[in-house]
Amino acid sequence: MSSTALGNHILVEFMNCDPHVMNDVAAIERDMVGAARKAEATVINSTFHHFSPYGVSGVVVIQESHLAIHTWPEYGYAAVDVFTCGDMNAWIAFDHLKECFGAKSYSAIEMKRGSVNLLTRNDFDITSAREKAAEWRNPDFYTRNVWFTDKDEDQALSLRFTGDVFFDVQSPFQRVRILESTKYGKMLALDDMVMTTIKDEFHYHEMIAHPSLFTLQNAKNVLVIGGGDGGTVREVLRHSNIEKVTMVEIDGEVIKACKEHLPEIAAAFDDPRLELIVDDGIAFVKNAADAVYDLLIVDGSDPVGPAEGLFSVDFYQNCYRTLKADGILVAQGESPKFNEKAFAELNQTLQSIFGKDNAPVGLFFVPTYPTGMWSFQYGLKGAADPRKVTNTDAIKSFVAQKGLRYYNEDIHFSTFALPNFVKELVKK
Ligand code: SAM
Repeated sequence: MSSTALGNHILVEFMNCDPHVMNDVAAIERDMVGAARKAEATVINSTFHHFSPYGVSGVVVIQESHLAIHTWPEYGYAAVDVFTCGDMNAWIAFDHLKECFGAKSYSAIEMKRGSVNLLTRNDFDITSAREKAAEWRNPDFYTRNVWFTDKDEDQALSLRFTGDVFFDVQSPFQRVRILESTKYGKMLALDDMVMTTIKDEFHYHEMIAHPSLFTLQNAKNVLVIGGGDGGTVREVLRHSNIEKVTMVEIDGEVIKACKEHLPEIAAAFDDPRLELIVDDGIAFVKNAADAVYDLLIVDGSDPVGPAEGLFSVDFYQNCYRTLKADGILVAQGESPKFNEKAFAELNQTLQSIFGKDNAPVGLFFVPTYPTGMWSFQYGLKGAADPRKVTNTDAIKSFVAQKGLRYYNEDIHFSTFALPNFVKELVKK
């Protein structure tokens, strides 16, 4: 570093980069830390955030200062700055990033920072400071903060994850990834939305299955639309009265990813009572026969991409038709606090098809979904109504026998006790 300046700052515009890379927080974190290492810098800390629907910001703090980045995938653009002091050659980092990002064009300016001619040196005991710093410095240890953020315009949920990616495939329907969050363990993300994590999946999967199965008591034939992680069929197949479960998942990559990396959730795919079909659930229900299913579970993702049609009136009219006279429908119902509109519209649809009093809402909590407050929405075709269940002893012994961790005979009823603002949202 020249004797005239304390630091050297390169400001870079990387353009025409690969938009997918520009939207990949794990890849960008890996490349930025890699660039620092390539330039023989000592990495102290890295903090990276992925923003939904797209864009990444992050910084790598190095002993020699920092590397920072902000990306606009929609423009294939990354604004990068490399600030160094000491002998580190920042241009080595620049070259590494240019290659990693596949930047077809760029511009860069270099500026000296902290011109010593303009600065006055304080009387500072450098020796004790150096000794003190030596205590802190451990080149092998650096904290990685790679954050995954699921947000809408006004609110977000961020999960810190290790940066390790176990599965990453762009399927014809969505991007399927298995990541590892530091608090909730391995997780399935579809198009950057958290679908399920090892540490809180039971909240969702126990509540999607058991309230209805204890209402029907002797269900035999169940249809599951979606549910590619396998958690829903795992819970349904815990019931010995079940003879057949048909699961129709549109994306085979989801099943593959979960079988390989989330075996605790994808635990029942070999059950002989399960027929696993990789197909569009909307078309499947449209072509299904009348009155064949006791229980129909819609374990779909949010109303975007392949799952958009899983919120349509047509789809639910077909669901109604294919249910037996006393059948029950349960649908992943979104959140009254995150996407109120989709939540309320779905309930109006179910009321219009099943009847105003036959579309109850069950609330429950999933810490890794934005706001944590989520719902299952019901369609009751006949008299079977989870709010009128009496066999609580059967629930109690089943919960004890199976070691369930969320669902029990109290939660079975409390899930239908709605706060006033939710009652307003689903008013008849
Ligand atoms: N718990 C998650 C949630 O609340 O968003 C849902 C989990 S599950 C993994 C959602 C599954 O629905 C995904 O695997 C997705 O591929 C599947 N899916 C989406 N649209 C579908 C469709 N039209 N037919 C069948 N499966 C569909």
